[in-house]
Amino acid sequence: MKKNTKKNIKFYAMILAMVLTLTQLVGVAVPVNAAGVKKCSHGYILAGDIGIRLHECADSVCITCYHGHAKRVVIPEKFKLYGQMLPPSQFDSDNGFSENGVKEIVLPDTVESMGYWDEEDVKDGYVNDIGYHGITFYVHKGSKAEEAVKRNNPYKYLNDNSNPQPVKGTSIKRTIRIQNLAKITWKKVKCDKYEIRYSQKKNMKNAKKVNCGKNKTSLVIKKLKKNRKYYVQIRTKSGKKYSAWSKVKTISKR
Ligand SMILES: [Zn+2]
Repeated sequence: MKKNTKKNIKFYAMILAMVLTLTQLVGVAVPVNAAGVKKCSHGYILAGDIGIRLHECADSVCITCYHGHAKRVVIPEKFKLYGQMLPPSQFDSDNGFSENGVKEIVLPDTVESMGYWDEEDVKDGYVNDIGYHGITFYVHKGSKAEEAVKRNNPYKYLNDNSNPQPVKGTSIKRTIRIQNLAKITWKKVKCDKYEIRYSQKKNMKNAKKVNCGKNKTSLVIKKLKKNRKYYVQIRTKSGKKYSAWSKVKTISKR
C-alpha cells in the first residue's frame, strides 16, 4: 500500500463521499423498516441466508455475511435490492461462512474482491487473516472471480457446461450465386468449427446443414434449384457449445 498511499487516500475519500450520498438517497427512498425486507442480526438485508448491502458505487451488491448451514453455497448471479437486480461484486469478509461449516462457495463471474483490494494489500499485511478457512471456491476459468480468489484461497474450476459465457459467433460476409452453385464467405473467429445452414425459406424450414473446419472461411454449396432464392446462416461451435445463429443472408436467384 505504501507506494499507492496517496492514490488510496483519494480512493477511500471518494468511496466515503459516495457512501454518505447513498445513505442519504437510500434513506429517503427506502424506509429502514420497509415491509417485506428481512434483516439479519448484523442489520444487513437478507437474501435467503445471505446478507447483502448495496455497493458504494450503487451498481452491484456486497455479500456481508452468511446465516445458513449449507455445505455448498451457490452465490446467485443477481440479487434483488431496492427494486433492482444487481450482480454481486464483492465479499466484505468471511462473516459466518467458515464459522457455519460451509466447505464450498460457487462464485458468479462478477465477484472481483474477497474483502481486500489487491495483492499488495495481502503482502503488506493489510489483510492478516481474511478467513474462509477450509473453504474451496468454485469459479469459471478466466473470470474476475478467479482473479479474486487466487490471491488467497483454494479454488477449483466449474466445468464448461455451467459456463454462462456465450460462444462468440461469426457473420456471413458475402454470398455469390453462379448457376446452381453459391459461394458463401464468412468472418474468421476463434472456434472449433463452423456450421452453415441454408433453406429456401427465410425461417430456415427444412434447412440443410454443412459443417466446416475452423480454418475455413468459405464454402461452395452445390445443387441449388434454378430460379430459386435461398437463405443462409452460420454459427460457431466451441467445445460442446454453439454460438447464436448469424443474421440471415440471401443467396440471390439465378
Ligand atoms: Zn448478517
